[in-house]
Amino acid sequence: MFTVSREFSFCYGHRLLNYDGKCSHLHGHNARVQIMLRGDGLDDDGMLFDFNKFKITIGEWIDKNFDHRVILCENDPLVKLLLQINEPVYILPYNPTAENLAKEIFERCQFLNLPIVSVKFWETDKCNAEFNLISK
Ligand SMILES: [Zn+2]
Repeated sequence: MFTVSREFSFCYGHRLLNYDGKCSHLHGHNARVQIMLRGDGLDDDGMLFDFNKFKITIGEWIDKNFDHRVILCENDPLVKLLLQINEPVYILPYNPTAENLAKEIFERCQFLNLPIVSVKFWETDKCNAEFNLISK
């Protein structure tokens, strides 16, 4: 069994609904995410998955959907306001916590048919959440 992983960084804004703390206010993070894939065999070039393919698949999706976006729960009243002034918003059916953002990226990797093992999501340098095959 081989695994390969690649990291991506991006900036996003969010806030948490029904949360008693400062994350209930709109604010931003410099996020880092590590995406790990696995497989048994290597291709003719001796690779499990070309690192460049990370970039042109899930990397591009992250860039387009999460980078410099406000990520909000669909129940957040800010969604309507931001859309009215043409601000790009990524809407989730749940609170945009580090855990849920890791899950969202994991499921996007599955949708892209990547042999995903885990997504580790750093909301700050010191705090991260992971969604992996064991979580499912
Ligand atoms: Zn936050």
